[in-house]
Amino acid sequence: MENETKGKTEVNDVKEIKGVKDYKDAKIKIDIDRYRVKEGDTINLKKFATYCDQDVDKSAVKNYAFPQALDEISLLQAKLFAQSTYGLIIVLQAMDAAGKDSTIKHVFSHLDPNGVHVVSFKQPTEEEKDHDYMWRINKALPRRGDIGVFNRSHYEDVIVSRVHNLIEQGKMPKNLISKDIWDIRYRQIRDWETYLNENGFPIVKIFLHVSKDEQRDRLAERILNKQKNWKFSMADINERRYWDRYQELYSEMISETSLKEAPWYIVPADQKWYTRYVVAQIVIKALKDIAPKFPEMSKEIKDQLEEFRKLIESGSVGMIEEMQDMMLPSDK
Ligand code: ATP
Ligand code: MG
Repeated sequence: MENETKGKTEVNDVKEIKGVKDYKDAKIKIDIDRYRVKEGDTINLKKFATYCDQDVDKSAVKNYAFPQALDEISLLQAKLFAQSTYGLIIVLQAMDAAGKDSTIKHVFSHLDPNGVHVVSFKQPTEEEKDHDYMWRINKALPRRGDIGVFNRSHYEDVIVSRVHNLIEQGKMPKNLISKDIWDIRYRQIRDWETYLNENGFPIVKIFLHVSKDEQRDRLAERILNKQKNWKFSMADINERRYWDRYQELYSEMISETSLKEAPWYIVPADQKWYTRYVVAQIVIKALKDIAPKFPEMSKEIKDQLEEFRKLIESGSVGMIEEMQDMMLPSDK
């Protein structure tokens, strides 16, 4: 209560000091490499955790380390945007109710909306069906300096299409649909992602790994909780029938398409606080790998800014007019 009267800056200061003091010795470091699938590895989803499997302090993560991670992402994103040479693509795939939407909301929503775009890929429209499967994905790619977050992606075209034989009901020429079609698509996806990476658009792919029990509870919650009713879909209940097939196909697809430069991460998704923290750390790593920097200013401009800074600090009322007099010829 006392702090509330103290003004904004001080409240923030107190919060920071509190965080450092309370969580100084707390365990907050996690190893995200254990969730990363190495190129060439054959994985089985059953062997990956759906629960937090590292020794971390939940309260310290929620109240201190996660907000800090978000600040770190913010700064890196500002640099990515200012530099405007690389674009980052983040793909999220998962079984229904694994928490894609809420992960996106918590990890990305505080970022500058000018430079971050979320695109959700639903069942293809008629227009989309009239094109190759990458057409709509290509249209949604981020520009240089931006982060594109894909809520579902081209990976639906090797997963749901396969579970429900959609490719045969589609408009692909029948003579091009051989039994190797899925291997062909894996190859196309690897090539496409390599191409993007070689052009300054790295991709990081995240599979939110939820357990079958947790999915049941979350689907039930969509029925029981009135505020979540809008999320309920009969299709989700039906898709659960194919749980094993999905898990098998996801295991194969992740093995086939995890590349050194475009890796898959299999992130435990039964506990939302942990999922968000792991995803935030993955995003930080992806941005650090790009190592974006604010554009370097010329010595001339730096010297000029230094002069302007002195002018502002001198408290001169007519400082803007004085700056005009000091402007470089190229700025006039
Ligand atoms: P939520 O978690 O809120 O349910 P969602 O991503 O499942 O989010 P929905 O609108 O419920 O969103 O479902 C989108 C549906 O579109 C999914 O069932 C998905 O499999 C399907 N879909 C996406 N891409 C394709 C595709 N290329 N071909 C066929 N179906 C697709
Ligand atoms: Mg759904």
